[in-house]
Amino acid sequence: MDPYRLPHSVLPVRYGLRLEPDLARATFTGEVRIAVEVREPVSEIVLNAAELRISEASIQNAKGVSHPANVELEVSTERARLRFPGSLAPGTWELRVAFTGILNDKLRGFYRSTYKDARGVTQTLAATQFEATDARRAFPCWDEPIFKAVFSTTLAIDPALTAVSNTAVLSEEIRDGRKLIRFADTIRMSTYLVAFVVGNLEATDPVMVGRTPLRVWSVPGKRHLAAFAQQAAAFSLRFFEQYYGLPYPGDKLDLLAIPDFASGAMENLGAITFRENALLVDEKAATHGELERVADVVAHENAHMWFGDLVTMSWWNGLWLNEAFATFMEMLAVDAWKPEWQRWITFGVSRAAALAVDGLHSTRPIEYPVRAPRDADAMFDVLTYEKGASVLRMLEQHLGPEVFRDGVRQYLRRHAHGNADTGDLWTALGQAAKQSVPALMDGWIFHPGYPLITARLDRNRLVLRQERFTSLKEPPGGAATDGPARTSEATPPLRQWRMPVQLRIVAKGKPVTRRLLFTDAEQTITVPKGFEHVVVNAGGHGFYRVRYEPALRERLLRLIPDGLPAIERFNLLNDAWATTVAGLMRLPEYLDLTARFRSDPDRNVWSVLFDSFQALNRIIDPAGRPGLEALVRDRLSAAVSRLGWTPRPDESELTRQLRGDLLRAFGTTGNDPRTQARAAELYANSVKSPSRGTDGREANQREANMIDPNVVSAVIAILAHAGDRVRYTEFLERFRSAPTPQEERRYLYALAGFQDGALVEETLSRTINGEIRTQDSPFVVAALLTSVHGREQAWNFVKTHWDTLDRLFPKNGVRRMLHGIAGLATPELEQDVKQFIAMRKIHLGGKTLEQYLEQLHIAVAFRTREGPALRAYLKRAGAPAGRRLKNKQGVRHEER
Ligand SMILES: [Zn+2]
Repeated sequence: MDPYRLPHSVLPVRYGLRLEPDLARATFTGEVRIAVEVREPVSEIVLNAAELRISEASIQNAKGVSHPANVELEVSTERARLRFPGSLAPGTWELRVAFTGILNDKLRGFYRSTYKDARGVTQTLAATQFEATDARRAFPCWDEPIFKAVFSTTLAIDPALTAVSNTAVLSEEIRDGRKLIRFADTIRMSTYLVAFVVGNLEATDPVMVGRTPLRVWSVPGKRHLAAFAQQAAAFSLRFFEQYYGLPYPGDKLDLLAIPDFASGAMENLGAITFRENALLVDEKAATHGELERVADVVAHENAHMWFGDLVTMSWWNGLWLNEAFATFMEMLAVDAWKPEWQRWITFGVSRAAALAVDGLHSTRPIEYPVRAPRDADAMFDVLTYEKGASVLRMLEQHLGPEVFRDGVRQYLRRHAHGNADTGDLWTALGQAAKQSVPALMDGWIFHPGYPLITARLDRNRLVLRQERFTSLKEPPGGAATDGPARTSEATPPLRQWRMPVQLRIVAKGKPVTRRLLFTDAEQTITVPKGFEHVVVNAGGHGFYRVRYEPALRERLLRLIPDGLPAIERFNLLNDAWATTVAGLMRLPEYLDLTARFRSDPDRNVWSVLFDSFQALNRIIDPAGRPGLEALVRDRLSAAVSRLGWTPRPDESELTRQLRGDLLRAFGTTGNDPRTQARAAELYANSVKSPSRGTDGREANQREANMIDPNVVSAVIAILAHAGDRVRYTEFLERFRSAPTPQEERRYLYALAGFQDGALVEETLSRTINGEIRTQDSPFVVAALLTSVHGREQAWNFVKTHWDTLDRLFPKNGVRRMLHGIAGLATPELEQDVKQFIAMRKIHLGGKTLEQYLEQLHIAVAFRTREGPALRAYLKRAGAPAGRRLKNKQGVRHEER
């Protein structure tokens, strides 16, 4: 018997939950009365409980027959075993359990979050985060998604505070000095979706979406940052009601910003919780990326109200049914809300991130066995979200958007208030599409990896060949395995996929689109007379890579930028970079290729260039770095001068963001001294201008000094890159007093950008001394691990303070932090990492650690293979540009 799964002999039907938190003492007391259905005679009931002290448990039936229970807690499996003196007859019983627990600081279960109020006094609130398996830390329960039940919650709180839960407030009264708030019954739902937040909270006025009042909540003083999220939420809620053809399943919708929050957001039905920077934003002061993030996360969580909350996966192996769908729907909704954001093009970046991980030997299928809670937590990754959403997009485009939507509607209607599996989704989509979906999709969901299509021209025939793409030819030897051998290895990688492939063949100036289902190892297509070029993966929705033989690639390169859509340029460049890392293309060839994109207007295309330059920066010896900086400047300078520092009035938001991205890369990876000087000047002016003008003249002056937020964000990063201690102190202060979550975040990450060793050390120490929130610290350490200037210090810090980090960080923190080890790209550091991991017996659940180690190995192998070629290339290319380095910044940097 699996010790992590509960028996189905007794099922919960309805929970009457009463909780009384004591924020000052960081404890709570509770009582839960659970109506259960006993399905066969039993003498014990097993349910989940963790970190709870159960003071009393009993069960009684409708006739008043009552049995006390003997309680035994099993710490390792997080279960409580309630033993009764006699056997319980089948039928309806009410189980009553009284308990106490702690409001922990680990951002899971029922936990404490703190913030400073306007007077600088630390205030506490209590919030919940139950997914995947932490409801059991707040109350004893059947803590598996399959055990859906109704929840009726009552909170007894300090009368000065407010409480929010999944449903509307039924009544509020003061009794015995406590405020008793009773909430309406929920729909039948899984335990991981239950939520309550208690504290001094402020809400916006509700907006009505149909019958649903929608509000945004925050700690006091931040309500003015809620408008954008409220608009995004209202739009997407309406959008989903139409798309799904089903009303929103709750009775109200509250979106709450929690100062300490482990993930981005959590889709608790009716009470969605967020980290502050994913919800609260000043629309005027935010970059495009910051606004996009709020819109994305809000839409994603709203999409879950149906996908996840109304219909829930049966077990965590099917998590993709929740997360891939929510990610896919988030794109649809945001794209409908702000078409000018071209969200599906930017989604290419997410797809690329999934392709990178799925190109590892240690990847996993989207649907993957889950046993222990740690494995469930490891499922929240780029394969579940981004690969899942990518293959859904591929399927949607293949079946047609309307057919796909109809299938989704059928699936939701059929399984509303229940649970479902991947097979159920295929059935519904298959009925809508009148074709068998499993044959097409199982290879993408149940097998790891994806194909590479190689395209070549053989006279008048286009020959396409498919094989699995991996970044390393062979699995890296000696990598530590993460946990015991997995039964899942029963699903081996495929050799051939069933692939919907879209081609655009242009002959004599006329484009023809061809859609085919590519099922064999090789497929041949006769091309028409006057053939000019072919785009494989036309439209860019396919989850595979394409490698063109040089002659075919050259024909496409001649078309850029204007003759190829942005997503296709993005894929062309991104696939070229991936094949370079994989050793299928030589680095000099790729570097030549980058010169062809100098005038590209798309920020996603540029992001491939930036990422590849940063990857090269991590593998180059310090002596070669000035040459690389010169190459970066060479590739960027035309675009930087074209866009300048100031937006034009008619410019799109995307262009504004591109300007910020270019300037940032030019001033950091390119280390351009003039850009750094200009950034300092702009910053000095913006700081000088009064932040709160009282008279009109001051306000006008402020307006004149307002720099575009995308540029502000770049300026901060540039100044940190070139900054000294004085600047560090200034930025630290700005981090502490930031008026918006976004500004706080910019200055926080800027702290990791300072290169001076003593400053790196200070930033690292701030990740464990309470100055940086534990929700953020893992990301800061990871940023330093991947930085050229901080990685060795950061790695030493991780080794020295391992126990502290492990104790302080929220449950996903160590996993997030160690993501940075891929940046430790030298053979010596790689050895050291492997030794440390083996010595400390580190496990991150699933295949996470194997993946990190493989990514590190890829970087080291790439360094060994292409390092000499890189040096030679830069020497050849950089001779004239190198002279420009003879300035203070360049020399200083070179000495490192
Ligand atoms: Zn989600």
